[in-house]
Order: sequence, then C-alpha cells, then structure tokens
Amino acid sequence: MRESDVLVVGGGLHGLSAALHLARRGIRVRVLEAQQVGAHASGYSAGGVRTLGRHVAEVPLALEALDRWHRIATLVGETCGFRSVGQVRVAETEAELARLAERAAQMRALGFRHEEVVDADTLRGLLPAVAGHVVGGLIARRDGYAVPLRTTQAFGRAATAAGAEILEGVRVSDAERRDGRWILKSRDADTYAAPYLVNAAGAWGGRLARAVGEAIPLGFNAFQMLLTDSLPPFLTPVVGATGRPLSFKQSESGHVMIGGGHKGLADLDTGQVRLDVPRLAYSARTALDLFPILRDARIVHAWAGIEGVTPDELPVIGPSTIADGLVHAFGFSGHGFALAPVIGDIVADLLLDGRTRFPIEPFAADRFGRVPPSSSLRPALPQPAG
Ligand SMILES: Cc1cc2nc3c(=O)[nH]c(=O)nc-3n(C[C@H](O)[C@H](O)[C@H](O)COP(=O)(O)OP(=O)(O)OC[C@H]3O[C@@H](n4cnc5c(N)ncnc54)[C@H](O)[C@@H]3O)c2cc1C
Repeated sequence: MRESDVLVVGGGLHGLSAALHLARRGIRVRVLEAQQVGAHASGYSAGGVRTLGRHVAEVPLALEALDRWHRIATLVGETCGFRSVGQVRVAETEAELARLAERAAQMRALGFRHEEVVDADTLRGLLPAVAGHVVGGLIARRDGYAVPLRTTQAFGRAATAAGAEILEGVRVSDAERRDGRWILKSRDADTYAAPYLVNAAGAWGGRLARAVGEAIPLGFNAFQMLLTDSLPPFLTPVVGATGRPLSFKQSESGHVMIGGGHKGLADLDTGQVRLDVPRLAYSARTALDLFPILRDARIVHAWAGIEGVTPDELPVIGPSTIADGLVHAFGFSGHGFALAPVIGDIVADLLLDGRTRFPIEPFAADRFGRVPPSSSLRPALPQPAG
C-alpha cells in the first residue's frame, strides 16, 4: 500500500493545479492518471483565457485566474505561451449588439469593469479583416489564450518540482473510505491510501463520485476544433460570435484555430472520440462568414476532446456532501482551461483550511438535489482509451 497525505485522481489541468498548490504547502500529494498528463480535455483544449461573457457565478474566479495568467511564469516557471491579446464577441445585428450592451451594463451593475462595448469603427480597428455586416462587439482587453498541452505539462513539471508524485498509466478502478482513509485500487491491483482525496477526473468525475456513493449528474461532450494552414497575420484578439457558436483565433505561427462548441461523438467507456464532419463544416462556414479572408485557407487538422458537462454548465467545485476528506473539482463544461491557476488553490484551501475566500457556493456538489443512486454503488470506474 502506497501512502500519501492526498491522492488526486486525474492528471488534467485541474488535478495538476491542485497537486501543485498542495505540494507548495508542504503536503505529500500523489496524482493518479489513467493515461498520461493532458490525455483528455486539457491537452485538446482551445486554450482560451476568457473572462468575457462568463456566467456571473464564474466571473470572480475567472478574474482572479486572469490575474494569475498575467504572471503565470511565477506560478509554473514558464509562460505557457500565454498572450494577452484580448477576447472580442462580435455582433452581427443591432439586436445582438443590444444584447451585448445589456450584458456590459449587467456586469457594471455588479461592480465588474472588464467588459466594454465597442462600436463598428472601433471594432474594425481591432479586427480589420472582419466581415462588413458586423455592427460592433463586446471586448475584454486583458483576456487572451495559452497553449494547452504545454500549459498542462508545465503545471505537471511545477507540481513535481514542488514534491508531488505524478503516476501515469494508473487507472483507478475502485475507491472506498476505510478507517479515516481513502483506499484506491488501480486496474493493475496496486493500492494507494491517503486521508484526503481530490476528484479531478474530468468527464469521469461523475463516475468517481458515484463509486463512493455520491450521485452528481454529469454528461459529457466531445468539443471539436479545426486548424487551418499558416496564413499571413490578419487577426490579433480571440473572436467569438453572439448569435452562433464560434471561437476563433490566429496563433503566432499563422495557423487559425476554429472551435466554438460543435460536438462530435465520444464514448466514455473507451475514451475514444469521433468527429462529426457536418458540424465541423458548420463551424468552418461560421468562421468564413465572419472572416471572408479564410476563403482560400486549407483545413490541415481537426480534433475533439472529451469534457464533462453538468446540467447547468457550471463546474462542481467543493467538498463532497456525503463523504469525509473528499473534494471535487470536475465538470468544467467546456470553459475550465482559463480557471486552472485558481482552482488548485481553492482545492488546497478546502482540504487544508476547510474553507476558501473564493465564492464557490454556486458550484456545490449537491446543488442538483438528490439524484437517484445508481443500482450499484460501485459501477466500473472510467475506462479511457490507452
Ligand atoms: C476542444 C476543447 C476546447 C476547449 N476550449 C477551451 C477554451 O478555449 N477555454 C477554456 O477555458 N476551456 C476550454 N475547454 C475546456 C477545458 O479544456 C477543460 O475544462 C479543462 O481542460 C478540464 O480539465 P480537467 O483537469 O477537469 O479534465 P481533463 O483534462 O479531462 O483531465 C481529467 C483526467 O482524469 C483522468 N481520469 C479519469 N478517470 C480516471 C481514473 N479512474 N483513474 C485515473 N485517471 C482518470 C483522465 O485520463 C484525464 O486525463 C475546451 C475543451 C475542449 C475539449
């Protein structure tokens, strides 16, 4: 039996951020990752660092995380490719612009000043290649993006340097609390024990919760992305649309990344994803409508990543409501990359101090009420591919 103070299930960004913050506070922490660091959502993300348009409940965390992104090298020892290029949501009609203005007013009324409405001329100054029909937009100037796998690996390296142990290829298949400790068994029959457990199993977080008797509803999606060949620079900020899903950016290398929520198919048991080509084509069409300059671009790569999605599309962050020594941080519903620098800190607060100064009530594990328990308390735990 291998002992530590804390066991973290999941070597994605959130598990690694938790490990880093715990290890920096002198805690012996061990991360168990079924495949390898960044094998799922964190490695396949678009890497958008966005406060713009966040659900109100997430705004305080997103703003705190953004401050940390601006000094990310002090946290993980490298820049993670973070670029503070701003994020803009464009309006294609006057009605959409009115919605954006309403949103900016709502933020101001709540005391947040990070979102600003821009008129068509200002927008064209920011996005010279945008289509003629666009009438304005909403901008968060300090937002940006980072490079997902590089970021995830940087969190992993920083956690290791701080004393955490990250074990790859360890798929947890059984979890139980016995005599004040969590006992986890791997598929290869190794056993790990610790008084504290962090559930950072991403799309499989609901299964891990269920395995210890806590029913938290969690669906999943396979968010899809497209990448074009390298084009001459035409775009600096990250762009989203208001009336249809789009996330659009040009990297320093000139490649354009197109995403925005169109889903492929995924199998949680195997961890495999399949692209939905008509939906990818829809994403490409939206991008082309907004940036006609893409007319001759070639798509050179497409991919999808599995992400846990809750019924209200907000993550589950907080202590278990039925088991001692367990903190959940999963189900980030397609927008958790940006939050990673602060979530690990919150998890460490909860485990070590029993509370945190950050407002996490909206993310409580029991907010969906009592969900009927599954027929078996211990269904098979996740079986990602590999
Ligand atoms: C295509 C795509 C684009 C995205 N774009 C953005 C964006 O622009 N901005 C943004 O903020 N967010 C974005 N997101 C969301 C963001 O990437 C995720 O919210 C975040 O990476 C989730 O991290 P995680 O650590 O919770 O999950 P994951 O990275 O999925 O990590 C969970 C890990 O747990 C492991 N695991 C599961 N079960 C077990 C087990 N039983 N034993 C051991 N290990 C286990 C898995 O193998 C996996 O590696 C995007 C996501 C996708 C898929």
